[in-house]
Amino acid sequence: MPKLTKAKLNRYQKVLIQILRELGAKVEHIEESVLRAEGGASPDEAQEFGSENYSAELQINIIQNEEEILREVHAALDRIQQKSYGVCEACDELIPERRLEVLPYARYCVGCQRKVEENGEID
Ligand SMILES: [Zn+2]
Repeated sequence: MPKLTKAKLNRYQKVLIQILRELGAKVEHIEESVLRAEGGASPDEAQEFGSENYSAELQINIIQNEEEILREVHAALDRIQQKSYGVCEACDELIPERRLEVLPYARYCVGCQRKVEENGEID
C-alpha cells in the first residue's frame, strides 16, 4: 500500500485545516491535536501557522457547496489520521501530488474521479 511521508501528511493536514478556517469552521480542537502531534510548537510558531499565507480559494471554487467541502475536508483529515491520505480510494494508487496541491481533499486519482463522475460510482 503506497503512502505519503509523515512530513507530507503534516503539510497537507495544515492545508486542510486552513481550508476549514477559511470556511469559518470550528477548528480549535483539530489545531490543538496538530500542535501536539508536532511535539509542542511554541506560541510564536502557532501564530505563524495561523497566518500562513496559503489561499484555499482555488480549492473552494472547485466545489461550490460549502457543506460538501466541509465533509470532504473532515474525511481527508480522518484519512490523514489513518495514514491512508493521498491514496486513491478506488485503485489504491498514490494520488499525484500536483492533484493534491489543487484539491487536497481528493479521494480519487484523476482517472477514478472521471469514472465516478460518469457513472456516479466505482464498481
Ligand atoms: Zn484511482
